[in-house]
Amino acid sequence: MTAKKKDIRALTKDQLRDFFVEQGDQAFRGNQVYEWLWQRAAHGFEEMTNISKATRSILEEHFVINHISVDTMQRSSDGTIKNAVRLHDGLIVESVLIPTESRTTACVSSQVGCSLDCHFCATARLKKMRNLNPDEIVDQVTAIDHQSRLYFNRPLSNIVFMGMGEPLMNYNNVLKAIDKITSPEGLSMSPRRITLSTSGIPKMIRKMADDEVKFNLAVSLHSAIDATRTGIMPFNETFPLKDLKESLHYWYAKTKKRITFEYVVWAGINDKQADIDALIDFCKHLPSKVNLIEYNSIDDDRFVQADASAINAYITALELNRIVVNVRRSRGKDIDAACGQLANKS
Ligand code: SAH
Repeated sequence: MTAKKKDIRALTKDQLRDFFVEQGDQAFRGNQVYEWLWQRAAHGFEEMTNISKATRSILEEHFVINHISVDTMQRSSDGTIKNAVRLHDGLIVESVLIPTESRTTACVSSQVGCSLDCHFCATARLKKMRNLNPDEIVDQVTAIDHQSRLYFNRPLSNIVFMGMGEPLMNYNNVLKAIDKITSPEGLSMSPRRITLSTSGIPKMIRKMADDEVKFNLAVSLHSAIDATRTGIMPFNETFPLKDLKESLHYWYAKTKKRITFEYVVWAGINDKQADIDALIDFCKHLPSKVNLIEYNSIDDDRFVQADASAINAYITALELNRIVVNVRRSRGKDIDAACGQLANKS
């Protein structure tokens, strides 16, 4: 009986080099294969044309390349593309390509489903099945880069970890993926073009700061009042705002990187002056900006986007306090590709 083949992309470059030495070959063969796997995104060993046939069949014998495949691709009337991505074990995650005039942004998933329970998010309705491996995250990025070149004649320019899952609950794999994406031996993307979005896990925000990561941080705040935030994001009970705030000050002190707060204003939930005051108090002494994002309906009567006057009250007050505020329009709503709508409907 043959032993189960290993996923070759779980090996480090050194481990690959060692493998070839064990096979009586030369270590640099490991570098060549590594380049095929990570720089050229090979889907199969037969693509590795500078590797001899004999060596390729040794690789076939020992390893598999668990590449993702794009199961279905939907295009929105605004150009947004949503991919349903099939993993090697049959599970599905979604990733989104968001085009603007000058950029292409990939919105990628970090987990299958999500273990958090934000009441306004469609992904929360899916049970968390498992974490994604680093290669499964990188594959989403390369697939979208390919689509960007094909449909928009330009490479992918930005990445946001705002798809399914909580990236800080799969921190090690997300970090390994970002390493591959930014390394010259991978896709050579600048970390400044990558944003990790988290619902806010203080311990992990501190860890990221200690790790001196170079990418950007966004926090899904939605309310700066504990009772309100716990009402819509129950895990806030475990990670209250005071701890979150302290971890963000720590992040800024270490990284000198401004934080982005994502914030939806809902009627009857966080549309009062007290909500605005709390938000200002929360971010006043923290170099940050606020993105007011449009609510994307997930068919739950409790959540209705606040009207323009409430949004304007936020904008006026934030600007008065010299806090940068942007209003973000949704993209890809007609195909359920917008923030919080990823739920494997298809
Ligand atoms: N778990 C991470 C990343 C995924 S959610 C996080 O919480 O940040 C990506 C963003 O979409 C978050 O800011 C989240 O709060 C927001 N979001 C979730 N559901 C939404 C909805 N229905 N409408 C608009 N934004 C939503």
